[in-house]
Parts: sequence; C-alpha cells; structure tokens
Amino acid sequence: MKIMTIYAHPADTITNCGGTLALHAQRDDEIVALILSHGGRIHANKYAEEWRKANPDGDVATAGLDDIVANKKDELDRAASILGIGKVITLDHDDTYATVHEDVVEEIAEQIAAEQPDVVIADHPRSPAWFDAHSVATGMALAALSRAGTYLRNLDGRDEVPVRQVFLTGLPVFNLDALSLNGLRNDCYIDITGVVGTKLAAMDQFVSQGYHGLFARKLVESYNGEAGRAAGVNFAEAFVRLYNETHGALPVTEAALAADPLTRHIAYSSVNLRGSYPVP
Ligand SMILES: [Zn+2]
Repeated sequence: MKIMTIYAHPADTITNCGGTLALHAQRDDEIVALILSHGGRIHANKYAEEWRKANPDGDVATAGLDDIVANKKDELDRAASILGIGKVITLDHDDTYATVHEDVVEEIAEQIAAEQPDVVIADHPRSPAWFDAHSVATGMALAALSRAGTYLRNLDGRDEVPVRQVFLTGLPVFNLDALSLNGLRNDCYIDITGVVGTKLAAMDQFVSQGYHGLFARKLVESYNGEAGRAAGVNFAEAFVRLYNETHGALPVTEAALAADPLTRHIAYSSVNLRGSYPVP
C-alpha cells in the first residue's frame, strides 16, 4: 500500500499521524509526505525565546526567512527518516494563504497523479467558515483529488488516479458512539502505543518550534492519550474516513471483541510516558 500525507505545515504530518506512519513503515508500506507551505512564518518559538534573553545570540535572533526555512527543512527530514517516511515533497508556499488557490490545487493534483497513492491522509477541514491554514490545505487537497480523478489516459496521456480512501485527522471529537453530537466523531483509531517512542523522537527534532522535549510528551500524553482513552489503549491516533467502506461481513475488530469495559481504565493507563521516554 502507498500512503500520501497532505498537510499545510512541516510538523503537521508528525503530530497528526506520525505514529500511524511509523506502523505502516514497519509493514514496508510506501509513504510520501506532501507539505504545502514552508512554515517559516509560524511557530517562531526558538527565535522568540532568543529575543526575550538579555543577551540574545545574534545568529538566532536575526535569522532571516531563508535560514528559518532551511533549518525547518532539516528538522523535517530528520523526523521523516525516524518515522520511515520514504519521500518528502515540499511545495514551499508562504504560510499566509487564507483561501483555496487554483494553481496550488493543480500542483497538488500533479503530485497525486505522479505518486499514485492508495490512501491519502489530511487534516479534517472542520468548519468551512474557518479559513485556518489547515482547513484551507485540506480544501485544496480534496479539490486536487477531484481534479486528479478526472485525468484520463486517452485525454491526458497519463494514468488515472484511483485513491481508495482518505483519512482525516485533527477532529477533536472522541465520542464513543455514533449517536452523540449528531454523529460527529472520529470513526477509526490506530493504536500507536508500540511506536509512541518513535513519534516522540520525531517530534524531538522540531526544536525551532518548541515541539521537542517536554512539549512532545505533553502533546502525546494529552492528545494521543485522549484518543487512546476513546480507543481503550494507551495512545492512539484518531481518523475520520472520508468514503464509505465495503466489508464481506459486519466489521467488528479483534480489539473490539477483546475489550473488557470493566478493566479498560487499567489497559489504557499502563505506560508511564515520561518514565519510558525521558526528554533526551
Ligand atoms: Zn500546522
């Protein structure tokens, strides 16, 4: 299977689905990460920390956009190789877009057509009225999927693009059932407990935006811990499937059949994250 992630910023891929990608890399699935913007204008944490010092390091405090972007690319490359992402494609747009751009849709469609992924992972677009960079990125990714879906061998001289499923991340709704909140919820959980140290090591690379060390552990404990609580495991990543799926019989997973509601609280609280994976 080939997976293509499409996210707005360099670190989004790791925080949203890094554990899931590490698991698929272990299965020898091919992974391509497409990142729309360079992230040079967001999360300037390392630089802001320096500005606040009495005697700031001049190189850090006066870093220009090229330096910041180059440093972030290094961080991304290291994180990608830790997770087993085989290929990183950065389109290097500025971080300021607030609407869908026709030319970026075309760029993404070209990358989808060239890579031919079976599965795409992107952020949940949440509200269409919220012109957040992540929502806009997914708007462009979905438009690009539609466009790539119109490529035909006889008209365009290239293969059609049969993406089988899109998994959407970042919806902070962890209901345990389909009836609460009118059915709005993540509907698919991946147990990342076995690779949580790999995800932390990847996040530890993003020093420039303060995603390393204590923050990485805080995010995984809280965000992946909450998804894990909904899933009955220590740490999970949560997804919403875009398309319906067809099964030969009712799809009740082994984990669902094995779940013990009375001891769940122990099963999903068995890892001391900071003890097992201390800040390096
Ligand atoms: Zn982001």
